[in-house]
Amino acid sequence: MTIIEEEYHQKALAFDQNDSLASFKNQFFESDEIYLDGNSLGKLPKLTIEVTSNLIQNQWKNGLIRSWNEHWIDLPNKVAAKIAKLVGARPDEIFVGDNTSINFYKLAFATLSLNPSKTKIITDSLNFPSDLYVLQGLLAQQFQNHSLKIIKSADEISISEEAIEQELDENTAFITLSHVVFKSAFMYNMRKINDLAHQKNAFVIWDLSHSAGAVAVNLNESNADMAVGCTYKYMNGGPGAPAFLYVRKDLQEKLQNPIWAWFSHQKPFEFDLNYEAKNNIQRFSTGTPSILSLAATEAGIDLINEAGIENLREKSKLQSSFLVELIQNFLLPIGFTIASPLDVNQRGSHISIQHQEGYRINRAMIEPLEGAISIIPDFRPPKNIRLGIAPLYNTFLELYETVLRIKQIVEEKEFERFEEEKLGVT
Ligand SMILES: *Cc1c(COP(=O)(O)O)cnc(C)c1O
Repeated sequence: MTIIEEEYHQKALAFDQNDSLASFKNQFFESDEIYLDGNSLGKLPKLTIEVTSNLIQNQWKNGLIRSWNEHWIDLPNKVAAKIAKLVGARPDEIFVGDNTSINFYKLAFATLSLNPSKTKIITDSLNFPSDLYVLQGLLAQQFQNHSLKIIKSADEISISEEAIEQELDENTAFITLSHVVFKSAFMYNMRKINDLAHQKNAFVIWDLSHSAGAVAVNLNESNADMAVGCTYKYMNGGPGAPAFLYVRKDLQEKLQNPIWAWFSHQKPFEFDLNYEAKNNIQRFSTGTPSILSLAATEAGIDLINEAGIENLREKSKLQSSFLVELIQNFLLPIGFTIASPLDVNQRGSHISIQHQEGYRINRAMIEPLEGAISIIPDFRPPKNIRLGIAPLYNTFLELYETVLRIKQIVEEKEFERFEEEKLGVT
């Protein structure tokens, strides 16, 4: 170890020692790898195994249909209330179910239908492509006279509020943005964007997939209209876990779910032949909730609420700043660049780094030669290695070890063992 390496090693150990959230990592299964992909698929909480096996062994196997009344029918509202706490909303403003793309479709459709004379939608080139596809589909199929303005980011890292303000006009139906963007982790000032939009009588639909569970979101305090988000990233809900949707209370009755289905009906079990929408947040339901995967989300959400989102955000800020410092010291000199905002208040909880050999370095991190530790980041084209920090279970020491391991891969050209060709899921 060089002197500077030893210095950072000691710093990492000291940070971990002073970390009041350190014990939360014991609530997750240990592994002998470093997992930096909690922003894509969170780890499995130990309690989730108990909850889901009880559901299968008792509620499903023995209780069968009776379990609907005993355990299941209220589960969506119970989980919604826990998510509400985490994102600063009222319990009756959150629907949980379906996936993020479907929920986004519902809100985009509803907003465009509310005032069809407003024909402009504003988004940006940093947004998650699925959201853009949903909008493109709506414009092709239903709202052919509408237009979609995609504001380009000059540096592919951030976009200024002024750039959004310039596009906004009275013809704007809504702005839709990822609160924390998936590649660079740039974070918008939610309150400011909401205020700008409201001045022009436009709405904002936020995508919280990369913020919920990692940054302190307060939808009510920031005057948010609508939002969607997923629960399988920082919230540790499991693969394909149900997503959530938020609609401000006073807007709910004005917005219509484009999918008229029985769970959004006033009285689904009267089997009336005519549709009548519920007049609460459940009007955004569709069909039967996915009970197994919904139940699997609870333990992960409880852990976030128990740790406290403000505390998690503080830790995440310390961790991402420590990581940036490590990258500046050890990786910039060997050909890396940082593709995330350097101001900690303008970013979420992951750091993207770029290198000409990004994809192959990412492979070498995951599949090391014998003796080295495996590290799981993810890769986003063209050359981003994303290092996701989940403050609930990642340690400072892991960040230190990651950076030194990346340095070793590059210096010893370990990445040359891999092909350029990409695997199916990156
Ligand atoms: C992960 C993610 C999604 C996921 O969408 P699904 O439809 O639930 O698969 C949506 N938006 C953003 C910004 C994401 O990061």
